Amino acid sequence: MFWGIVLIINADLHIHSRFSGATSEKMNIQTISTEAPRKGVDVVATGDCLHSGWLKEISQCEVIDEGTFELNGTRFILSTEIEAEKRVHHLLYFPSITAVWDFKERIKSKSKNLENDGRPNVHLSGEQLAEIARDVDALIGPAHAFTPFTAMYAYFNSLNDCYGDLADYVSFVELGLSADSDFADKIKELHRLTFLTNSDCHSPHPVRLAREFNRFDVKDTTFNELKKAILRINGNKPVLNVGLPPQEGKYHESACISCHTHYTLEEAERRRWKCSCGKRIKKGVKDRINQKADFAEPVHPEHRPKYIHLIPLAEIITKAVGQYNPFTQTVTKRWSELVDAFGSEINVLLDVDIQDISKVTVPAVTEAIQAFRDKKVIILPGGGGEYGKIELPSSEQLVQIPIGPSDTQTSLSDY
Ligand SMILES: [Zn+2]
Ligand SMILES: [Zn+2]
Repeated sequence: MFWGIVLIINADLHIHSRFSGATSEKMNIQTISTEAPRKGVDVVATGDCLHSGWLKEISQCEVIDEGTFELNGTRFILSTEIEAEKRVHHLLYFPSITAVWDFKERIKSKSKNLENDGRPNVHLSGEQLAEIARDVDALIGPAHAFTPFTAMYAYFNSLNDCYGDLADYVSFVELGLSADSDFADKIKELHRLTFLTNSDCHSPHPVRLAREFNRFDVKDTTFNELKKAILRINGNKPVLNVGLPPQEGKYHESACISCHTHYTLEEAERRRWKCSCGKRIKKGVKDRINQKADFAEPVHPEHRPKYIHLIPLAEIITKAVGQYNPFTQTVTKRWSELVDAFGSEINVLLDVDIQDISKVTVPAVTEAIQAFRDKKVIILPGGGGEYGKIELPSSEQLVQIPIGPSDTQTSLSDY
């Protein structure tokens, strides 16, 4: 290897396999390995690597080195999500299969579902978990840190609160779909950490897989190089976070979990978190972060990369061609013709000349992609478990596009 050669890679470092609860059967290693490049992603973290069945499937890949595997041109690194004390979710990245086995051995007696669920529960504190992670040389950090359920800041006030003496060993925080760098950098203790933006997907559909990802400068596409990038050493580093506009997240604003009426923080507090329909109001990520904020406006440390907000292409197409959801044949056809022509979704969204796009697809889709690039897409914020919705600036006109007779909807439950 020559010094000075830098590779720029895109990585989605949190997914779930078909061995996790509520996850599509299509989350098998073959499908993930062929779908990732179409989204423009080079590296995927396997998720669920403590599960024997999934580990066996991972062994179909070519071994690049102890901690790096490859199938159909997609590289994989070993990772898992674990639910520990107070149901808080943690993300871990392992240097080798031996490290995975060692780790499993150490937590075996503390878990009842290690072999049943890809995302196991353990009776361990964040501190105990981080200690075992450190012993096997794995990286650890909080998953989707601000969501109202199963997240660090929902139950702990600080990294110290959650990880105790091992707080310094934590090297990253996953922002989750409802937050971005501007939100997270209002909290001072997060400034030293690398921000990860991952899909946490349970389906390989293009609106899910790599809906968030990270771009790193590395010298090779391997676990060790990615580890250095997360730790920001030897010149390796994150150079971009890419994610949904936080308003699209399911828990962005405080809202009722049943009727999804949105409330301001003041209003929710005045109502003691009870909606007029009688059900509970769930505190949104925006309000949680603003309550925890050390700064009224984000203060970015020098190492913090830019954050780009992307709306999945399939969602943009859905609106443009007047469909109700992104899982229909029409949307898939329009998505595929663009991705087939230009290599990956990220190319279509950001890089390809709009004139070239117009030669491949219908005018409504071209206009919608242009509206996205011009930041003219309107987002109605999510909350209470309901994703945000997007609207195109001139949706009344755009939905008039005729839809072919063969346009039958596939079942949403497939995803
Ligand atoms: Zn989780
Ligand atoms: Zn309600």
